[in-house]
Amino acid sequence: MGKVYLTGAGPGDIELLTLKALKVIKKADVIVYDRLANPDILKECKSGCEFIYVGKEDGKHILPQEEINRVLLECARKYDTVVRLKGGDPFVFGRGGEEGAFLHEHSVEFEVIPGVTSAISVPAYAGIPVTHRGISVSFRVVTGHEAPNKEVSQIPWQNFKTDDTIVFLMGLHNLEKIAKKLIEIGKPKDFPVAVISRGTTPEQKTVVGTLENIYQKAKDLPTPALIVVGKVVELRESLRWFRD
Ligand code: SAH
Repeated sequence: MGKVYLTGAGPGDIELLTLKALKVIKKADVIVYDRLANPDILKECKSGCEFIYVGKEDGKHILPQEEINRVLLECARKYDTVVRLKGGDPFVFGRGGEEGAFLHEHSVEFEVIPGVTSAISVPAYAGIPVTHRGISVSFRVVTGHEAPNKEVSQIPWQNFKTDDTIVFLMGLHNLEKIAKKLIEIGKPKDFPVAVISRGTTPEQKTVVGTLENIYQKAKDLPTPALIVVGKVVELRESLRWFRD
């Protein structure tokens, strides 16, 4: 049995890949990967390395999670070093936990190599710190995938009345509903919001607005994109350092 490395690929800028991730990528016999913000990472592999794509196409998984788990198990039976490469960090909305639990059940050795998550690094490249003394003492990273008008919600919307910074991942298609929901729970209409598309890459684009107008301003941005809600967005005026 080989070993599986649940590895974070970082948010896009290839230099945000960790040394540890690079080391296993260079050694990998097979790389099982998702749609990555930077596919150039795959060029770092040794010659003869196999590639298996299990990502999403237009938001649809080409393989269900159980299938991906199976692929990992088969790879572990066939190869010594299996790299399961995921965008950002494997445990931040990456289903890395499910894959690790499955490998554990099947007695396959694995290791987790954390990655630089887009949730923090993409706002940073837009000049937005997720916390800032006197402005925000905490931040949340929330899935934007679930429609906010869903009747039974797993998302505790009522808790979002506080001034924490909120980062929504996978939420661009729900941007209008998310903004409306936040106004509905009592946030001011002019509360600052930023949408950052293709963060940390040369195509990075940041659009700043308010809960009331952000949908009109940002709806056509290309994915991947994330949403930052909070007063920290205003700091971009002085902290913007990356050209976008
Ligand atoms: N595990 C990943 C997140 C997976 S969910 C991580 O830690 O970053 C995928 C979501 O991440 C996308 O829908 C988008 O909201 C966000 N995302 C990933 N890369 C991004 C990038 N370069 N720019 C903007 N958002 C990004």
